[in-house]
Amino acid sequence: MFESVCLVHYHEIGLKGKNRSTFENQLVINLKRALRAFPVAGVSRISGYIVVETEDHRATKELQAAISQVPGVARVSRAYRCGLDQEEFFSAAVRALEEVASFTTFKVHARRSATNFPIHSIELNRMVGSVLCEHFPDKKVAMHAPDATVVVHVIQGSTYVYADSIVGVGGLPVGTAGKVVSLLSSGIDSPVATWMVGRRGATVIPVHFSGRPMTADTSEYLCQDIISTLEGAGIIGRLYVVPFGERQREISLTVPQSLRIIMYRRVMYQVSERIAQIEGASALVTGESLGQVASQTLDNIAAVNEAVTIPILRPLIGSDKQEIIARAQAIGTFDISAQAADDCCTLFMPRRPETHARMREVLSAWNSFDHEAMVDDLVAQVEYRDFNQCPSYRPPKELSRFHKELLPRETA
Ligand code: ATP
Ligand code: MG
Repeated sequence: MFESVCLVHYHEIGLKGKNRSTFENQLVINLKRALRAFPVAGVSRISGYIVVETEDHRATKELQAAISQVPGVARVSRAYRCGLDQEEFFSAAVRALEEVASFTTFKVHARRSATNFPIHSIELNRMVGSVLCEHFPDKKVAMHAPDATVVVHVIQGSTYVYADSIVGVGGLPVGTAGKVVSLLSSGIDSPVATWMVGRRGATVIPVHFSGRPMTADTSEYLCQDIISTLEGAGIIGRLYVVPFGERQREISLTVPQSLRIIMYRRVMYQVSERIAQIEGASALVTGESLGQVASQTLDNIAAVNEAVTIPILRPLIGSDKQEIIARAQAIGTFDISAQAADDCCTLFMPRRPETHARMREVLSAWNSFDHEAMVDDLVAQVEYRDFNQCPSYRPPKELSRFHKELLPRETA
């Protein structure tokens, strides 16, 4: 029996020069956290890779799939780890190829990272290739686009042999790109935007504005489900929920109907900016995509942006709905988002929202109610729940003492 391990490949990290070891160490920490449910015996760095070992020396498909979800992972291979003895890695190669479900053509790709290994990779290719040809007489070698590739890689006194390799989500390890506050509705777009900045290494703090007490709290629970679905990616520290229904009603009674949404949004952005200050986060994130709905025209984006100074990241601004839906399906949030729930955005909606807001009118509506007191009041009423997905997250001391903890969703 050979010991099987998961060999984790990352490429972008390799490009980061001096930061390289910081990135690698963070990825090791994140993998340990993400794989809590598996019998992992060790996660360690070996030149250019990370190796995940299990207690029973068996790397399963499930483990491989879980690793592939972690930002920073470019590829994961289920590899047999052998010594430098030829007979050993020859039979590992036979075994690896036997496990490929169906193939007619194959090739061998041999490499050596250990320069003291006496056999050159061209020779190694030939040797392993001829062993495999003997064992699989009805299969053909194809150097171009083979159905299966058996990789034999000599690294630091061990040989790693594999044919089963899957693509990971890529990106950078969470915790290496700072912290952001993401405006999370229970809709399709913002969970995708949240995941995308997380994949680029940001620690994400979602903020959800609910219509409570004017609506049910369904959207709050859908947001919690969305965050739980992102568990495997390990990007979320804490969720903030802001009950916004009462204040929306106030706004809807004071400002011109067509400008309501812009006013709601300006308040939402200011509250989020304040949460970002408390959290030490350096940007807001939204799921807007240009022109998708009335509120997402350039004029309206400008009318809302003007309320804050913090940078706003819009990772989906150039995406089409179909692309966003495909991504939502891939990360598992689509089915949750497809469930109907009133959030604050469906409450007190105007019949004809402004699509090209003029700043003068926006500011005049904005100054017609005491927005400063409103924002202070909303920040004071923020509720939160910790998700502990992301090992680099440290909660701020400032809020936790007097704010209400949001109850976890009850399982029905
Ligand atoms: P989504 O699919 O993310 O709900 P949308 O297509 O409904 O977006 P809008 O309603 O214009 O579009 O919302 C634009 C962005 O504003 C959202 O992607 C999200 O980042 C933020 N947002 C909207 N509603 C809320 C909310 N209730 N709580 C927090 N953020 C929100
Ligand atoms: Mg929405």
